[in-house]
Amino acid sequence: MAEPLDTRATVLRGTLRFNEPMARHVSWRAGGFAARAYVPADLADLAVFLASLPAGEPVCFVGLGSNLLVRDGGFRGTVVLTHSPHGAMRVEGELLYAEASVACPKVARLAATRGFEGAEFLAGVPGTVGGALAMNAGCYGSETWDVVAKVLTVSRGGKLSERTTADFKWGYRHVELRGSRLGEEEWFVAGWFRFRAGDRDRARKRIKELLARRIASQPLNLPNAGSVFRNPPGDHAARLIEACGLKGYAIGGARISERHANFIVNPKGKARAADIEALIEHARAEVRERFGIELVPEVRIAGEPA
Ligand SMILES: Cc1cc2nc3c(=O)[nH]c(=O)nc-3n(C[C@H](O)[C@H](O)[C@H](O)COP(=O)(O)OP(=O)(O)OC[C@H]3O[C@@H](n4cnc5c(N)ncnc54)[C@H](O)[C@@H]3O)c2cc1C
Repeated sequence: MAEPLDTRATVLRGTLRFNEPMARHVSWRAGGFAARAYVPADLADLAVFLASLPAGEPVCFVGLGSNLLVRDGGFRGTVVLTHSPHGAMRVEGELLYAEASVACPKVARLAATRGFEGAEFLAGVPGTVGGALAMNAGCYGSETWDVVAKVLTVSRGGKLSERTTADFKWGYRHVELRGSRLGEEEWFVAGWFRFRAGDRDRARKRIKELLARRIASQPLNLPNAGSVFRNPPGDHAARLIEACGLKGYAIGGARISERHANFIVNPKGKARAADIEALIEHARAEVRERFGIELVPEVRIAGEPA
């Protein structure tokens, strides 16, 4: 069980910053500013902070920003910067508990060390547990919600709720909370995961193999946000984009990766969010024109154009 939280305090203990450059917080290293950015001290502090916001204040939770772009005109609301190297994580009986702030590779490593299998896929997802829950992050045949036992959420009013999987609907890179607007009115603060009892060395070996596959196929040395588009049924977005001759195609400072056509890179760190978005639209239009397939972006775009 999670520690009981004292949310009666009224004094905020986290850090509130104004005009926060979001390029610092997203893996594309591009984009505009957030009007306000809050770094909560802990879960109780986060609950108190959310309850203190004016009704209607736009709120965007940001984990490691590995699937996110804030437009050049900025986000006129409050971002909550959740990632923390000190987020709590532990084994509780048959379940592994991790706060939303924890980086996914840490979950994969702890699970392997404790002799669980089934968490290896998380080793190469460079986001937080909160981001993985929100996106149903997955790869190599596994998805986050395959292994969720239950989650803890916080609402705009600061209420913490333990929720079971029955409260959610999920699919490929898509999660919905029945009866509430996930990401606008309610957010993840922790998850309990059920991995199968297995072999520590086998899990560690698989982590190594999966990471090696990534290093061989993805442009990990350049700022990027992973796969830009979801794969359409029965096909691969990368294959379609490559077949349109778009590998290496650039708009402003953004370029379609030569190594993996479903990745957009910011090689010199000079891309504007508008360059990246224009490249996304260009790739979509070319694939639509040539194959009649509508690619759906996987990356999340927030904020206003410049
Ligand atoms: C090199 C690279 C490889 C990648 N490989 C994969 C892969 O194999 N599979 C895959 O699925 N993804 C992959 N990604 C994309 C990304 O890592 C995942 O989508 C990840 O789950 C995002 O986590 P994050 O913490 O960075 O979320 P962010 O990018 O910070 O946020 C993503 C979305 O989740 C929301 N969100 C974040 N935290 C919370 C929360 N606590 N509660 C509610 N909503 C929240 C945000 O508001 C936003 O809408 C890759 C990215 C990179 C850069």
